[in-house]
Amino acid sequence: MKDSEFISFPEDLRQCIHFHGHLCPGLIYGYRVAKEALRLMGSERAHDEEIVAIAENDSCAVDALQVILGTTAGKGNLIVRDYGKNAFVIADRKSARAIRFSRKTHYTYGGENPSEYADLESKLVAGNMTEEEENRRKYLKSMDLLTGEFSAIFETEHIAMPDLPYAPLAPSVPCSLCGEMTMATKLIDRGTEGKCCIPCVGKTRLPQER
Ligand SMILES: [Zn+2]
Ligand SMILES: [Zn+2]
Repeated sequence: MKDSEFISFPEDLRQCIHFHGHLCPGLIYGYRVAKEALRLMGSERAHDEEIVAIAENDSCAVDALQVILGTTAGKGNLIVRDYGKNAFVIADRKSARAIRFSRKTHYTYGGENPSEYADLESKLVAGNMTEEEENRRKYLKSMDLLTGEFSAIFETEHIAMPDLPYAPLAPSVPCSLCGEMTMATKLIDRGTEGKCCIPCVGKTRLPQER
């Protein structure tokens, strides 16, 4: 991607690219879904856990959800259920609304350079694509997905609010085996051995430690 192309993008998309590290079709899928969800629900980016995203894949799209929706790995309002599906549920706790976005059709290029895209696709299939050509293919596809009609890309379905518990809070206590501070609710009770952390399950104390 050229600098002039980057500068022509909206500020929030540039933030997504900066966070993710590159522009790619997956990132644009997430960007479009996140923007459409905010628009339909009249919501703003989550400061806390107001919005929850359930991604049914672990693709590049997830990074755009984090940037645009504020549904982040650290806050607990990003749930990744990797079914390998290009589908996302976005829920707003305040309005108790939830929307599922899903892709039901194959991608076909609908942009301004169809013959160039077709050439690049056939090189991809033949397996003789240079890195530069692959970047160009991704750029053309990204631009097509960015500018295409949303309804031509994703199905939008308003669904019942899923049951979404808040991220749990619990004090940290030391593991009885390794001694490392661990969230109390994550410890496994091993009876006389005490409570230990998940990586320590299956380990036993060495005789000199007893
Ligand atoms: Zn990517
Ligand atoms: Zn441990």
